[in-house]
Formats: sequence, structure tokens, C-alpha cells
Amino acid sequence: MSQQMLTTSHAPTPIENFVNGAHVTTAEWSKDSTQLHNPDKFIPVLSPYSGETISYCPISKKTDVDLAVSAAQEAFQAWGNRTMKDRAQIMIRFHQLVIKHRDELADLIVLEHGKTKTEALAEIDKGNETVEYAISLPQLTQGKIADVSRGITCQDAKRPLGVVVSIVPFNFPFMVPMWTLPLVIGLGNTLVLKPSEKVPLTMNRVASLIREAGFPAGVVNIVHGAAETAGLLTSHPDVKAVTFVGTSHVAELIHKQGRALNKRVLALGGAKNHLVAYPDCKLEMTAQDIVNSFTGCTGQRCMAASVLLTIGPQPQLIQEIVARARQLGFSQEAGAGKMGPVIDAASVKRINAYVTESESQGAEILLDGRTAVAPAGAEGGFWCGPSIVLHKSKSDKMLREEVFGPALSILQVATKEEAIEFENANPYGNAACIYTNDPWTADWFTKHFSAGMLGVNIGVPVPREPFSFGGINRSRFGDSDITGEGAINFFTWTKKVTTKWAVPVEANWMS
Ligand code: NAD
Repeated sequence: MSQQMLTTSHAPTPIENFVNGAHVTTAEWSKDSTQLHNPDKFIPVLSPYSGETISYCPISKKTDVDLAVSAAQEAFQAWGNRTMKDRAQIMIRFHQLVIKHRDELADLIVLEHGKTKTEALAEIDKGNETVEYAISLPQLTQGKIADVSRGITCQDAKRPLGVVVSIVPFNFPFMVPMWTLPLVIGLGNTLVLKPSEKVPLTMNRVASLIREAGFPAGVVNIVHGAAETAGLLTSHPDVKAVTFVGTSHVAELIHKQGRALNKRVLALGGAKNHLVAYPDCKLEMTAQDIVNSFTGCTGQRCMAASVLLTIGPQPQLIQEIVARARQLGFSQEAGAGKMGPVIDAASVKRINAYVTESESQGAEILLDGRTAVAPAGAEGGFWCGPSIVLHKSKSDKMLREEVFGPALSILQVATKEEAIEFENANPYGNAACIYTNDPWTADWFTKHFSAGMLGVNIGVPVPREPFSFGGINRSRFGDSDITGEGAINFFTWTKKVTTKWAVPVEANWMS
């Protein structure tokens, strides 16, 4: 996609909610274009490549949220009563439509998020894997049944909850919504999804594919907006469960708000992922994997490497990492090149501020992303090159807080125990990885890391279906994983059915 394609030849228009099977404008939008500049009604959607406004995201108010939840509530009865197989068959059509429109969806991700086309295509494929998993629900959810006594059987029956709300972040416009959408509806619930106000276009397009696949009206609804809309959804009395993915402070807030109303809540938060390089690690493989981990999707992944702990000095490894990261260039072509921009100007400022603060504390800047030059013609975009910082002080903020950008902190520690002490002291708990050539060392680390998703020689240890995705500590508020088996339990009630058809004459009440 060229820069020209991003230049809007006509005035950008607002997107619409998707309610009861149709695109609808928000209640307060009177099609008066001056309203687009009212920050209480619309948020401009910016191209990270150019900084230009490409669309407007409406801020859904109570009327809009009520409309969507009531459409979902109305659709629930009939949808929840259909067989699992019936629902899976519609899911197969949706899966095929995602494949058919893969390229178009990836272009939308490039346009609104700024990642490269290769990364966008990988995101579509990974998101569609969860759809594949949901297609298998008839095989995965049979429940238990057993004769527990003479003439008596007990059965666990999985039943849908009702209306489920899903609030998602900006960093995976398609994949994160697909963590919940296929399982939520595949299990017989109905859904109201709120995309990030920064990237609403991809799911707006997916809404049409939902309709084309044949999901009945009201099964999937999409309402747009930011914090206010998310709050209205979380507190809505007809919503049975809420999932959230985003920063930890909002995750904690949503979790508290929903739990206080006795809803099921699963809120995934931020991350601070540690990689440990043991002296016996394979140099080239480790260096490349670390670079991929901290720069992929321009570092805006909850599984991205953030801190590298080297056990003892490892100058050759560090040199190799710096040399490889230095080669990553921006491209004038949106979606091309090895690295895209970050999501907004605030992110550029935040990421660079961490590097500057570390520098002021005596850290050595081995690679300086602050000086990265925007591609010609894209000077208005949000550009931030890869930074590599060698810390001298363990108390640098960059070593402790989530940076969420293409920046790697390196800290030398003396022993494996010191590495673990440092990792365990961090309040987050999404991912960690050990690079080593020795299985005993790998085993020791996987037993001692505090994070929930662990890698051995893989810096982005994302579990793939059927394995569940989810961190621990401040990376997750709630007791379940968001995909896999844990999610099947989260999105269903387990009803326990005890059946007695015949009582032998000699039975007493305990038999
Ligand atoms: P964010 O918390 O700013 O926003 C996430 C969602 O919450 C958006 O839909 C937003 O509109 C809404 N929101 C924002 N403020 C709110 C508030 N006060 N009340 C209610 N809703 C609110 O996060 P983001 O910047 O979009 O995404 C990046 C963050 O997401 C990073 O911290 C990243 O680590 C995290 N993330 C975590 C995972 C995971 O699996 N743990 C996965 C992806 C992203």
C-alpha cells in the first residue's frame, strides 16, 4: 500500500456501530459534519504512517449501548438453543470468508495500526486459528456423564451464559477480538464487542463478514467508543460476563467494577517480559530471536521482549543484537519495510522518555531509536526506531515499567539466582524466556520464572491452540485463561444434572 493510498482524496467519514445485523449510526449523530470535531461525540482515527485523519470513531452513549445489549439479549434465546454443530457450521463459513478477505483485512490493519503487511497477514492467520478451534467445539465440549450409583447418573452440561461483552486494545485489531468472538458465540452466547477507538476499521469490516457468514442478527454486535462506552458496557445489568484486554490499571478497574456487580470478569493487563541469556546459548539464533521479539509489531505486543538479563558479560551477543537491530529500516511504502511506526504521538513520547531517563541515570545507549528519521513524505507519522539500553542501575524506570515499544533494556547479572530474583520482583507476569543449550538449565528456569507463559529459546512464547493464552500476577485479573480449555469453562455455566429413572426396592436415600 503506497503513501498515496493513505492520502484521503475526500473528507474522511465516521464509521458506524453494528447492531442487530446492520450498520447503524450512533443515536446522537445527526450527519452534521461539524459534530465530527466534537470530542464528546467523535475521536479521529489517525494513520500512524502519516498522522492524517483517516476516519472518525463515534463515542457510543447509553442509548447506543442499550440498543446493542438488547439486540444481543433478544438473539440469545434462539442462538443458545441451537446445537453446537449448527453453530459450528456457520463458523466454518466465517473462517472461509476470513481466508477469502485475508489480504483486504491485512491492508486495513496496515492502514489503521501501522504494522507491516507481513505482520498484518500473520495476525489474520493467527486470529483465524482461534476460529478453527471454535469450529471443533462440538468435539471439545461433551461434558462428563457417569453412573454414580444404581440407577443414578450425574452429568456436567455446558450451557451458555447470555450476553458477553469484550473490550479490546489497539495492538491486534483482528487477533485479539478473535480470542473471544469465536468461542463466545460458538458456545451459544451472544456478544457485544468494543474495538479500540484507535483501530476501529478492521472489525467494522469483519462485521460485514459476520453477516455474510449467516450468523443471525444480534449474535454479534459492535459498539465503538473509548473509556465511557467501556464503562457503560461493563456495568450493564443484562451483561453476564466481561472480558477485557489492555493496560493493567484499566484491567484492574474493569475487573473490580464487573465483579462488584457479580459478573464473570476476565481482564488481561500489561506486561514486562524478561529474557535470560545463559552463557551457553547459541549466539546467532539467540540474537535474531531477541531482535524479532522486541521489534516485531514495533514492540507493541504484550509478549514482546522488554528486558534481557545476561548472566555474566556477553559482549559478543550484545554486539550481534545491536548489529541486527540497526539494520531494521522504515519504508516509504506503508506496510513494506522491516518496521512500521507506533500507534500515536503519545507512544513516541513515552518510549523516548524511558530511554532519556535511563541515560540520565548513567545507562549506555547502544542503539538510539530517538534519532530515527521518518520516511520522506511521512514526516507527520509516529516514528520511533529500535533502542537498546545497557543499564548500570537496577532502579531505572525502564527496567521496571511497561514501555510498549521497540526498546530493549539489557542488564548484566552474576548468577541464575540473581536473574530469577529480578524477574520475580516485577509485578507483571505475562511471559519470560531462557536461552540455553542445556535442558537442565531450561528446566530450572521454567520452574523458577514467575510469569505465566514461558519460552525455551523462543522470545515470543505464545501458546497456540489448543493451549490456553494467559499470564498471571498484574498481567491478569480473573481466574481463567482467555483461550483454550479455560475459556470454554469461562464462557459457560457447568450445570450438574443428576438423573434417577429407576429405584431398586432395596435402595435407601444414599444409594
Ligand atoms: P488501553 O487500556 O488503553 O485500552 C484498552 C481498551 O480499554 C480500549 O478498548 C479502550 O477504549 C478501553 N479503555 C481505555 N481506558 C479505559 C477506562 N478508563 N475504562 C474503561 N475502558 C477503557 O490499552 P491499549 O493501549 O489499547 O493496549 C495496549 C495494552 O494492552 C498494553 O498494556 C498491552 O500489554 C496490553 N495487552 C495485553 C495483552 C495480554 O494478553 N495480556 C494482549 C494485548 C495487549
